[in-house]
Amino acid sequence: MNKASVTQLSKNDLENKKVIVRVDFNVPIKDKQISDDTRIVSTLPTINYLLENGAKVFLVSHLGRPKGKEEKYSLLPVAEYMKNKLNINIEFLNDCIGEEIKNTIAKSNSNLFLLENVRFYPEEEKNNLDFAKKLSELADFYVNDAFGTAHRAHASTAGIANFLPAYAGFLMEKEINFLSKALNPEKPFVAIIGGAKISSKIGVLKNLIEKTDSLIIGGAMTYTFLKAENKGIGKSLVENDFLETALEIIKKAKELNCHLVIAKDHVVAESLESTDISIVEEIPENKSGFDVGPKTIEEIKEVLKSAKTVVWNGPLGVFENDLFSNGTNEVAHILADLTKKGTITIVGGGDSVSAIEKAGLTDSFSHISTGGGASLEFLEGIELPGIKALKDL
Ligand code: AMP
Repeated sequence: MNKASVTQLSKNDLENKKVIVRVDFNVPIKDKQISDDTRIVSTLPTINYLLENGAKVFLVSHLGRPKGKEEKYSLLPVAEYMKNKLNINIEFLNDCIGEEIKNTIAKSNSNLFLLENVRFYPEEEKNNLDFAKKLSELADFYVNDAFGTAHRAHASTAGIANFLPAYAGFLMEKEINFLSKALNPEKPFVAIIGGAKISSKIGVLKNLIEKTDSLIIGGAMTYTFLKAENKGIGKSLVENDFLETALEIIKKAKELNCHLVIAKDHVVAESLESTDISIVEEIPENKSGFDVGPKTIEEIKEVLKSAKTVVWNGPLGVFENDLFSNGTNEVAHILADLTKKGTITIVGGGDSVSAIEKAGLTDSFSHISTGGGASLEFLEGIELPGIKALKDL
């Protein structure tokens, strides 16, 4: 990583200093209960490092997309969860800027604070520099550990670095180090790109095709590729505006000698509600492809066998429905086995992560990214604003 890490701040630098840490506590909350604390737990190494080295720590995060100060988007339940469930001594502040919280901080004995939702101020998403300056006034250093929002140029992810020396937290550093391995991979390098739409993955496909030895296309995207090649796709999901794009990718793969894997057989049904499924090579007019078939899985297995680096983003079928989850599950298991044998396996956030959780394989990969959109943009080769803003080495 060519950016400064929090580990470069020693006890000498941190003792009795104040540090603002941008975390991604945008956790699922229902009836004030947190159903998944992964994002909270994964920032604990950074928080503990700063506290152990004598700093006072101020956690800044967004939660949801509030329009102004909406109580249902308050971060108070997160502070209570940290206190009651994780046994962490933390004080909640009911704002993120201003004199009132400065006074509370001055009177408090706490070393760890969670500030109220930074998106209660519209200036946050506008990357307003006056607002960023006000945030920065709470601290001597800024640490960004919110990889999940690093693709957004907001006041708390980018603007604030104009006013404070900015460092990457442990989670941010881990994300950068692993995702960089996909951009400078040990070969053979295979990418598996699935999901619903070519349109949202076009940047990744175009960037990775330059680097991969094999590119496996999965999910509904498959049918845009097949239609572009004049193959029957029945009623499968298709993006007619992207047929040209699909042809360009097929042509580019040939030029670059990249082995492109597009499904040869399919699990089809008349609709997602139907339980009458069949495996076909030619999709009938009245049916849709909802998963890859067994011959395709065999081909994928063969291609992956020798891979030294694999990147996976997006499910191979409608994995939410057990009738169409086989392809996605098989890939998850193949990659888990390869990880044990030393292959670097990197999973981009979003639905592939849910599929891995569903398969009970959360600890079986080299790296599972905590950021869906951010990891996609990173893999597109874009320098993320939240990373760009950090101090260069
Ligand atoms: P994305 O957000 O682009 O990664 O897309 C994920 C979504 O694609 C999941 O909700 C899947 O159910 C959906 N998906 C995957 N394969 C198919 C398919 N063959 N037909 C319809 N939807 C699909």
